Amino acid sequence: MQLIASPEQVLAKVFGYNSFRNNQEAIINQVLEGGDAMVLMPTGGGKSLCYQVPALCLPGLTVVVSPLIALMKDQVDALVVSGVRAAFLNSTLSALEQAAISQQVWNNELKLLYVAPERLVGADKQFLKFLQSVEVSLFAIDEAHCISQWGHDFRPEYRILSDLKKYFPATPLIALTATADALTRDDIIAQLHLEDCPVFENSFNRPNIRYTVKPKQGYYRELVAYLQEHQEDAGIIYCLSRAATEKLAQDLCDDGFEAAAYHAGLERETREKRQEQFLRDEIKIMVATIAFGMGINKSNVRFVVHADLPKNLEGYYQETGRAGRDGLDSEAILFYGQGDVMKLRSFAQVEGNEEQTAILMQKLALMVQFCETRRCRRKYLLNYFGEKTVEHCNNCDTCLNKAVLVDATVAAQKLLSAVARLNERFGGNYVIEVLRGSMAEKIRSEHKALSVFGKGKDLSKEIWQHYLRELVQDGYLQQSSGEYPILQLTQKSKAVLYNGEQVMLPAPNQFVLVKEPVKVYEKASHEKELFEDLKKLRTRFAQEENVPPYIILSDSTLMELATYLPLKHSDLQHISGLGAFKIEKYGNAFLETVQDYCIAAQMPTRMHLKGPLKEKKIKPVKEKETDTKKLSYEYYQKGLSMEEIAEARSLSTNTIADHLSFYINRGSLNLDAFVTGQHQALIKAAIDTYGRNSLKQLKDNLPDRISYASIRMVLATLPL
Ligand code: ADP
Ligand code: ZN
Repeated sequence: MQLIASPEQVLAKVFGYNSFRNNQEAIINQVLEGGDAMVLMPTGGGKSLCYQVPALCLPGLTVVVSPLIALMKDQVDALVVSGVRAAFLNSTLSALEQAAISQQVWNNELKLLYVAPERLVGADKQFLKFLQSVEVSLFAIDEAHCISQWGHDFRPEYRILSDLKKYFPATPLIALTATADALTRDDIIAQLHLEDCPVFENSFNRPNIRYTVKPKQGYYRELVAYLQEHQEDAGIIYCLSRAATEKLAQDLCDDGFEAAAYHAGLERETREKRQEQFLRDEIKIMVATIAFGMGINKSNVRFVVHADLPKNLEGYYQETGRAGRDGLDSEAILFYGQGDVMKLRSFAQVEGNEEQTAILMQKLALMVQFCETRRCRRKYLLNYFGEKTVEHCNNCDTCLNKAVLVDATVAAQKLLSAVARLNERFGGNYVIEVLRGSMAEKIRSEHKALSVFGKGKDLSKEIWQHYLRELVQDGYLQQSSGEYPILQLTQKSKAVLYNGEQVMLPAPNQFVLVKEPVKVYEKASHEKELFEDLKKLRTRFAQEENVPPYIILSDSTLMELATYLPLKHSDLQHISGLGAFKIEKYGNAFLETVQDYCIAAQMPTRMHLKGPLKEKKIKPVKEKETDTKKLSYEYYQKGLSMEEIAEARSLSTNTIADHLSFYINRGSLNLDAFVTGQHQALIKAAIDTYGRNSLKQLKDNLPDRISYASIRMVLATLPL
């Protein structure tokens, strides 16, 4: 297919990024070659670029199917701010507005069109037929799991997309989702008729999210301390019940935080207003039930707190995944307490459906195990989702607070033999009571006569519970599922009981000693005050344009500005997230803010820390004469200047300089006619100092009046 731009050009110019992430490049190439693609990438992985870049490389229209009206608007706003011609069609628009957009499509004036599935295929397929009469280059199905009943967000209206391939058999189709499970994935492929297309899979790891679990007891004080440390950050706090969200939001407001509650019981207007305020950074903290989050594209959510235990790991992963979509360091903090476990156990009882109850209980048990593990939490999570990982991630509380192991052989022997003496028919609490010699009535008299009875009086109940959890974690014991789990021995426990094998376990007091998580942002040494100034400037633009601030520039782009301190306009193109259009529109304003700050603080630029700037390598002059070179040469012989030749041939002056360099090299032209002797000397000195790899570096270190063309010509005449 004929491309109107290369993916690299679009990435750099429109989006302002210098390299592709994950397997974006392979996905984009697949689509540009006319093939279909199925993309599995976690939230924040960069799915949108997988179809937005092709949309700008391909000649016709890209139609994006998206389930949520709020998300469509967000994406379109973000594209328009980058200078891309994009629009959406949905029920929020008037008939007149819709007609205007159809007209734009008809005139081939749009590159991307976002539509709801029912709009695309509904109403007698009228719109599909209309699209058949214009040039559609690509279909993208976002949140593709909505098509599957196995997914967590089935939408019947997505089913009608099954017909799409019938109407557009030759148009490439890309389906994208952040859903990991195999069942859903296979269903998407079948439903969309993508049977033979490649599946692009990515790790579901979110390396910038730090997982931390803390004891729930007295958690409010700890939460307030955390929020005080992160006053500038936005975050979500999840609670189990509507009442709990209202109470916590009120308490936080009373303590001076900008917090609001969000749950399905609120009026629609209230919900929409609060969501909008959160997106616009007007409310920093959203205290919500799980009703909040679907369709939240806000990229600068810095923390997600679970004030109550989530029901299962799927929910936990999805909710924590809303943090840090911009790739900056973010935190997931869960406050864990036994009270919640009991509460959720009772919720999990589905009357008259034992099978369902068992599944829910099993999922809850794994959630609890995640909270109690002393091993890497990321590893636990990813293994749960079927991914293999390294042992330690060094970015979760357990990795950062490496447990001190102690010899716990004696305690382990006592516990395991108690389980054995009780014939593997009792749960943890009962076993511990027997060990501690409890005189309670519920302890059967025959158990009071056992040799292990009272053998563990020396340790507290909490310490026994700790060892018990660790033994289960390490596979020395196993716990049956169900409402009343019982403890059973394993192969491993037999080695301890009968062969006296040594058992090393984490010291018991570790759990309460969880260190404060390291503050976010600590990695990048950025100027904090400047970062806040930049945020304020961004808010001003956002208000003017009536979009959320993160649409104007992401936090990570502001962070780059506050870290590398660009002082020249030409530095801006090296800041990630600044495309040509945004530089044009906002560049000067942000540059001035950085300049003012640096002048006041007497601080130099740090652009050199960005590492080698990505510059096109200077091509050595090709040996062979070509028609195009010859033509430039002939123009020059007729007396035209380089600029005039460039103008006449619609080429850049640099290209003409390259053409003429060929003839200088050959001896047909004299370099002195183009570059003065003084400039030649300066350029050669600069090449000696800086090498020949970056034209820009040379240019930056030479007087302004020396042009790129002059540098290229001198370079071309020097031996390599
Ligand atoms: P997803 O839809 O998979 O959740 P997004 O498409 O919203 O993720 O991308 C998440 C963030 O990462 C966005 O801010 C986006 O601009 C940024 N991003 C995507 N690809 C790149 C890239 N190649 N380089 C730098 N940033 C990127
Ligand atoms: Zn870890």
